[in-house]
Amino acid sequence: MSRTSRSTLAATALCLATLLGVSSVEAYTYRACDGNRIRWDRQWDNRWISTTSFPPGSAWDARYQNAMWHWNNVRGSAFNFFVMRDTDGTHNESNGRSEVYLDNSITLPTLAVTLVRYHCYWFFGLHYGIDEADMGFNNNIGWNLGQLNYSNLGLPVSFEGVALHELGHALGLKHEDRWLATMNSNYPAAGPLGHWREWDPSGDDREGSRLLYPDGIGEVDIAGSVFRSIGGGSSALVTSPASAARGSTINIQFTFSNLSTTTQTFNIGFYLSSNDFISKFDRLIGTNTGAWGSPGFTGTFTRSLTIPGDIAPGQYWLGFIVDNSETTGEANETNNNMEMPRPIQIN
Ligand SMILES: [Zn+2]
Repeated sequence: MSRTSRSTLAATALCLATLLGVSSVEAYTYRACDGNRIRWDRQWDNRWISTTSFPPGSAWDARYQNAMWHWNNVRGSAFNFFVMRDTDGTHNESNGRSEVYLDNSITLPTLAVTLVRYHCYWFFGLHYGIDEADMGFNNNIGWNLGQLNYSNLGLPVSFEGVALHELGHALGLKHEDRWLATMNSNYPAAGPLGHWREWDPSGDDREGSRLLYPDGIGEVDIAGSVFRSIGGGSSALVTSPASAARGSTINIQFTFSNLSTTTQTFNIGFYLSSNDFISKFDRLIGTNTGAWGSPGFTGTFTRSLTIPGDIAPGQYWLGFIVDNSETTGEANETNNNMEMPRPIQIN
């Protein structure tokens, strides 16, 4: 009657397939029971955070709760995670408590495992739903409890980034490997958003949560990213030149995600900056007018830009601002500014 599906996030291109369930034809994927979406009937889950693994008030605890908050903050989805404290130092995958812990039994390339226990059976009616979602993090590797470092996408891995992915499993989502998404199989999946490198579910993942737990509330938000899908559930940084001559024309890649519940149309400004924070006061060197994305859309594009001939040689940053004309009132205005993940030396 009860089944457990083991979902993992891998460190390499090895994709560990999910074992059970039915993929949908829609963007995000989830488990189904005779065509019905398997989810938490109550639309919430208590996360029993191990106090021996993640002491209250520690950076671990703060990062984990931040990942929970970002899922709770998805508008259009009623789902919420709540904090509980598991103080006994043990975990059990069928005690009805979703426990969160460091796990000595996990080895690379697996970074973390979410064990989703659910039911799907007929007994004078169809019964289905998630019952428990334990979550173990590999205790044999190094974890980064700070900001993601673009120049090192290997070990130590971002705890908050992995937690965000695993929490997507805990609320009922499976892997989505067709485009850039938080639920990509391989770390760092969609990566963080915007200059402040905020780990936030991407557009597709938000649509998945909204489909499982719809509450009809609207959200408007567009974000920039320095990641792109390279296929098979893997991601890499966008490309941009490390050097260029004044007056030359170069290409950069850029990515944006529509986190909104509706299609958005907006402008994108491309800038040259003397520091890594791209602002409207930097040198505007290109504009895309009328960019648009449907709900859940994340895409990577290439833009040609000409380096101004009148600037002093030196180190600069290229970057972009989504909705630089600020015509879209967004839930989050801090994820629009995106510098390239490396500086450019201009000669
Ligand atoms: Zn996974």
